Amino acid sequence: MADAASQTYDVVIIGGGPGGYNAAIRAGQLGLKAALVEKRSTLGGTCLNVGCMPSKALLHASELYEAANNEFAGIGIDVKPKLNLAQMHKAKDDSVEALTKGIEFLMKKNKVDVVKGFGRIAGQGKVEVEAEGGAKTTLETKNIVIATGSEPTPLPGVDFEDGKVIDSTGALFLPKVPKHLIVIGAGVIGLELGSVWRRLGAQVTVVEFLDKVGAGMDGEVATAFQRGLTKQGMTFRMGTKVTGAKTSKDGVELTLEPAQKSENGGGEAETLKGDVVLVAIGRRPYTAGLGLETVGVTPDQRGFIANDHFKTSAPGVWVIGDVTHGPMLAHKAEEDAVAVIELIAGKPGHVDYDLVPSVIYTGPEVAWVGKTEEALKAAGVNYKKGKFPFAANSRAKINHETEGFVKVLADAATDKVLGVHIYGPQAGELIGEACMTMAFGGASEDVARTCHPHPTRSEAFRQAAMGVEGWTMQA
Ligand SMILES: Cc1cc2nc3c(=O)[nH]c(=O)nc-3n(C[C@H](O)[C@H](O)[C@H](O)COP(=O)(O)OP(=O)(O)OC[C@H]3O[C@@H](n4cnc5c(N)ncnc54)[C@H](O)[C@@H]3O)c2cc1C
Repeated sequence: MADAASQTYDVVIIGGGPGGYNAAIRAGQLGLKAALVEKRSTLGGTCLNVGCMPSKALLHASELYEAANNEFAGIGIDVKPKLNLAQMHKAKDDSVEALTKGIEFLMKKNKVDVVKGFGRIAGQGKVEVEAEGGAKTTLETKNIVIATGSEPTPLPGVDFEDGKVIDSTGALFLPKVPKHLIVIGAGVIGLELGSVWRRLGAQVTVVEFLDKVGAGMDGEVATAFQRGLTKQGMTFRMGTKVTGAKTSKDGVELTLEPAQKSENGGGEAETLKGDVVLVAIGRRPYTAGLGLETVGVTPDQRGFIANDHFKTSAPGVWVIGDVTHGPMLAHKAEEDAVAVIELIAGKPGHVDYDLVPSVIYTGPEVAWVGKTEEALKAAGVNYKKGKFPFAANSRAKINHETEGFVKVLADAATDKVLGVHIYGPQAGELIGEACMTMAFGGASEDVARTCHPHPTRSEAFRQAAMGVEGWTMQA
């Protein structure tokens, strides 16, 4: 690192996750003098260290393990797989290490000073960094970008306890497969990590307050998705509230109640026992010790720092990623990052939050972008719908992965694509084409009349788009 204290930066970014490190790269590209402050020993934030990447490593490995157990014999490969969980964790950790080192390289390539330590805003244009040993440095800067991310939300009455009541980070490092894993929360993280441990041999029960899995997901997809997970062996307790937890040496006993009491006040409390409980009810913004008061910024009631085109209420202090409003996703943080730096550099910077896709990396995957049918109905939009099942897609059939469908929603008058919802194989890869179509203001006919390669799952998207005007050809 250059002598950080002796110079004035154009921008100091606090937090080295997808928001922070992408902001740093863009700043370097645009010739801004930038520093990136990170309290962890490695860069990459939640996503690389304890989020997207390690969870995907376990999802990939556990999917192969399950396929080796249940599917290989059917296609003529006789094997008897034996789980080596320690090696599975090592492979995950090695991949994470390589990725975080890659970010260090990108910082050097873009001439960004990385300052390791806890960053605290110390008034306008000043960030004080306390290194692990306690040494303090003050960075002078024209702009501060807050990218401090988020942390797991705890559930009142259910205290975390190492190895027994865990958060998502705990679930990425379990040293043995639980007999009965109870997941509180049927959102993305709970269903992904629940899938990992079910595939590796755990009985998995998911307890969810709402009546629908995958909050925010299109209703038709949610129903099919829950049915699919149930078929795989997951048990769901929907519309159920967890009111307390008691741990003992054998595990954890949860107290459950119906989320909505019946009219006569009924709905008895009951208990559910497991050996590990994963609390996955969401994430909350992280601003502890950040010194926001020194620049007069007050987080809102839920702890988020509000922004107006990434500007906070304090001049020269900007905010991006999970710690501000919008979907808590790595690619959203990355979009914010590019836009905020372009604005700081005097360029136009903009993010279209309607086009931020969501993916759940279960098997099969769920992915969507744009409006759900429920949202279109609520807004009184007149829309048309095309739907195509993977059971009729030749590539999916050949690969024995026929569960699910693609649904395209388009404006009834203009044919503009308003939403695309996919439940099926590689949905996360397929949704990019839908994002691109929508970013260009494309119509369903644009997709329907675009030649797609055969045989690919992407043909299912084209066939669904054809369905908007009623000319699906292959089903
Ligand atoms: C299990 C799991 C799986 C996930 N999977 C996906 C996925 O598949 N796809 C996806 O898009 N998203 C996923 N996410 C969400 C994703 O990780 C976050 O949306 C993303 O990391 C947010 O980026 P960020 O830069 O805003 O914050 P973070 O990644 O949280 O980074 C913030 C960084 O700031 C540092 N920091 C905080 N305060 C200070 C301070 N005062 N001084 C110095 N450093 C500080 C933190 O140590 C951290 O490294 C997942 C999350 C979890 C937990």
